[in-house]
Amino acid sequence: MARTFSGEIKNIERLELSELPVGVEGRFMVELTRDGMGMPVRAPMVTLRGKKDGPTLGIVAALHGNEVNGIRTIHELFDRIDPATLRGTVVALVVANVPGFLLRQRVYLDGTDLNHIMPGKEGGSSAQVYAHRLVDRVISKFDYLVDLHTASFGRVNTLYIRSDMSHATCAKMTYMLRPQIILHNPAYEGTLRDEAMDRGIPAVTVEIGDPHRFQPEMIKRTVTGLRAVLAELEMTPRRQLAAGPEPIMCASSSWMYTKAGGLLDVSARMMQQVERGDQVATLRDVFGDVVERYNAPTDGVIIGKAVDPVAPTGARILHLGVMVEPGEDIVGRDVASSLKKEGK
Ligand SMILES: [Zn+2]
Repeated sequence: MARTFSGEIKNIERLELSELPVGVEGRFMVELTRDGMGMPVRAPMVTLRGKKDGPTLGIVAALHGNEVNGIRTIHELFDRIDPATLRGTVVALVVANVPGFLLRQRVYLDGTDLNHIMPGKEGGSSAQVYAHRLVDRVISKFDYLVDLHTASFGRVNTLYIRSDMSHATCAKMTYMLRPQIILHNPAYEGTLRDEAMDRGIPAVTVEIGDPHRFQPEMIKRTVTGLRAVLAELEMTPRRQLAAGPEPIMCASSSWMYTKAGGLLDVSARMMQQVERGDQVATLRDVFGDVVERYNAPTDGVIIGKAVDPVAPTGARILHLGVMVEPGEDIVGRDVASSLKKEGK
């Protein structure tokens, strides 16, 4: 479906849902702060407001400026939503961390991780003000939030979701998105997901593979998942979506770190299911002698791992998910079985 947009990119200072164009895509630049020359720093935002009233699904990409798979995900999603049948509004902040995006870096200009300082504050540092206005001017208007991320520089991720699976709406959104791995993970304080949840906005974080690149397969899968979320929220007509493989459910996860410094080779593969004691990585000194070998501390599945071999003491090795035991009374299971019964 070709995207028809209102034809004008409007500069605005905050998202006003009632002022969005109806039945046609809106494109906006939202002013957040001013730079050192007094010029506005604006974040790009696209909207689709249906003719029928309904909830607002918000999607955020590139809150970490180098995590770009989410940007392409938004483009492709907007290609596929028919505004004629849409109920409610889809709002996507295409690039949330504009200064970081321009510098191709995760953090804000001053080195601050915006996803650690939410909700920021007026009268604070540049990063705090920026974070505050992102929330106040845009994200606070959402009814639901999907925050799109990837791994950090030097690392790779599976397609996985961090979500509080004890929260029924979050659990449903997560199942609809159908990632490779679901990680039950109540949000850490200071993250955008935590701030949204505190405001009563059900929110999930989708980790779409690797930074600094577009990965078409994972992008496509996320777009399909977001369309299923729209249908689940009754914002689009119900339709049968191709069901992917059942996600692997993890009750918790942990990172392994190097205990010495050197050159790291992580032999474990993404999505590999390892047993406690399996060798997963080797650290060598600069001459090639093995310094340490690392073994999985528990049974689990590889959610993400380091691909940058340069590993000082305390470098991340891999992200190991601890899978839900068969028969374990997991959070969200009632939601899962209710979805199965409804035949979705
Ligand atoms: Zn991120």
